[in-house]
Amino acid sequence: MSYITNIFTGFWSVLAGMVVTLKYMFRKPVTEVYPRVKKPMFPRFKGPTSFVVDEKTGDHRCISCELCVKICPSLCITLEKERGEDKKFHLKEYKVDYTLCSLCSLCIEVCPTDALTHAKDYEIPALSQSEMINDFLKPFREKQKTSQPVAP
Ligand code: SF4
Ligand code: SF4
Repeated sequence: MSYITNIFTGFWSVLAGMVVTLKYMFRKPVTEVYPRVKKPMFPRFKGPTSFVVDEKTGDHRCISCELCVKICPSLCITLEKERGEDKKFHLKEYKVDYTLCSLCSLCIEVCPTDALTHAKDYEIPALSQSEMINDFLKPFREKQKTSQPVAP
């Protein structure tokens, strides 16, 4: 008797499995074919911090006030500035060590000119720690060389 029961139980479990398979065969696939197809990130996704590109000037909006440096709990921002002939401070260097940054957003919130944002980039692999120190002014320097606009 148990032999017959086992046959029916086995048959039933295969049938139940096939029903589930059939159900999913006609549904829209949910698999992401990453990295061939890259998923656009959600609006509230917090990627690494980066400079905002000003729409009018095409430049960054940093005024070298150092508020972000002072508030950063991870001490991962390095800023160098110099006073220009116009008596204003000009940014010489702005680097963030991504190995230390906790994405707390404090630097973004404190910035008086909305110069910082969280990028939507999620592909930031590196082979060494030094590669994780991001030079925020690099794309702006390259833009000056090629006269190409900096990608927002
Ligand atoms: S708080 Fe904003 S404007 Fe001030 S130094 Fe930082 S990024 Fe520049
Ligand atoms: S997000 Fe937080 S930890 Fe990262 S640089 Fe800004 S203040 Fe520092």
